[in-house]
Amino acid sequence: MSSPLDKLEPRLVWKHFDAIRQVPRPSKHEERIAEHVVAWGKSLGLATGRDATGNVLVKVPATPGHEKAPVIVLQGHLDMVPEKNSDVTFDFEKDAIQVRVVGDYVYATGTTLGADNGIGVATAMAVAEDPAVVHGPLELLFTVDEETGLTGATQLDPGLLAGRTLINLDTEEDAALYIGCAGGADTHAAFTVTREDALAQTVPVRISVRGLRGGHSGVDIHENRGNALKFLVRTLAAVRRAGIEFGIVSIAGGSKHNAIPREADAVVRVAASSEGALRATVNEAARVLKEEFGEIDPGQRLECATLAELPENRKVFIRFDNERLLDALLACPHGVLAMSRAVPGLVETSNNLAVVTTEGNAVSVVTSSRSSVMPSLAATTEQVGAAFRLGGAEVEHLEGYPGWKPNPSSIVLNRALAVYEREFGAKPAVKAIHAGLECGLIGEKYPGMDMVSMGPQIESPHSPDERVQISTVGRFYRLLSETLKELA
Ligand SMILES: [Zn+2]
Repeated sequence: MSSPLDKLEPRLVWKHFDAIRQVPRPSKHEERIAEHVVAWGKSLGLATGRDATGNVLVKVPATPGHEKAPVIVLQGHLDMVPEKNSDVTFDFEKDAIQVRVVGDYVYATGTTLGADNGIGVATAMAVAEDPAVVHGPLELLFTVDEETGLTGATQLDPGLLAGRTLINLDTEEDAALYIGCAGGADTHAAFTVTREDALAQTVPVRISVRGLRGGHSGVDIHENRGNALKFLVRTLAAVRRAGIEFGIVSIAGGSKHNAIPREADAVVRVAASSEGALRATVNEAARVLKEEFGEIDPGQRLECATLAELPENRKVFIRFDNERLLDALLACPHGVLAMSRAVPGLVETSNNLAVVTTEGNAVSVVTSSRSSVMPSLAATTEQVGAAFRLGGAEVEHLEGYPGWKPNPSSIVLNRALAVYEREFGAKPAVKAIHAGLECGLIGEKYPGMDMVSMGPQIESPHSPDERVQISTVGRFYRLLSETLKELA
């Protein structure tokens, strides 16, 4: 049967991608695509197998005469994000992705395309098969479940790979090489508070933060967007500074550990005679926050509403608990803590004050720290933990995931840079990302692994608008082939 991809070059890459897109492979359902790749390896007489987690490894002998060259690992992931438009009938566990070519792009029809990371997998298969590509011994490593938990990389057997140089094929940017990512770790703090009956003549008031942009706590953190929880505790601190007595009934905000909080609420009680002063102080806090964050968060709102007298609003935290909770939340850092020297413009270390909830006498806090430098990550979680311990909370540090520290003098990076300049007459950008990648996990299992990540231009990955730019697939193939030749 003919396919819209039949006429595209490089032929071998598109032949493999055309086959891959017809094999269902949403995350956590990689059985069939793994079988497909294993069958291909066996058909070429290559040593092929799967580890206990389901990752596929195919060993490709060197081009004759290059047997002594270092082993190079080519790595991509087998799974894809299954997203579709609501008006499209499509079963990601059964149906083949329908593709169409529009100008210089390949699209799917109403679904994700799976170029992330199907093009990476297809490209590795193509270079292994292409007699024109000169290379040393290769290990093709295809991981499972990258998209919903980095499971394959997390559980990778540390004895599986012989290679100590790895080229990851999961970058979505032409003209860029990636050399680093952030590791991350969450900290949970649990406060137990004591409540007392509110004084007579006090009224319950809700102070709300609304309209912030929020965003991803990794890739958006450099923008210094407002954190609704920080807005809220700074407002309460202003109320305290103004000498207005208040008791907290509840405090809550944020929803996900990896999202910057967009909304937060506190219910407090103040003397009825202080209500006017409270409103004035909140308005002044709103003005100050607007001055500070108005440009990045133009939609911000601080609202103050007097509530009905309900039983749940009658018990307030004792003053001691009010103070220690407020101070701990004020002391907890949020935002960028350090910028990278190795990669200009990269956030090296950050913290997100992510979620606060109140349930009965328990106030829980979740924070999420990131850094591409593991000692800095440990120092940050320690600092966050200390702020909450000083506030009298029980602190728990959750197991995180490792970062990939950028190494500008990496051999594989410098070979790829030289090849890129020679082949395309321009310098690619050298970048890193302030979020997790498989390379962080693989590097932890294989200390000293020299790594770089490359790929073609893929727009809107993880959405039904996902598309891959055809001309950049050819460039990617040339960059990878020539880099392998240099390393052989
Ligand atoms: Zn990917």
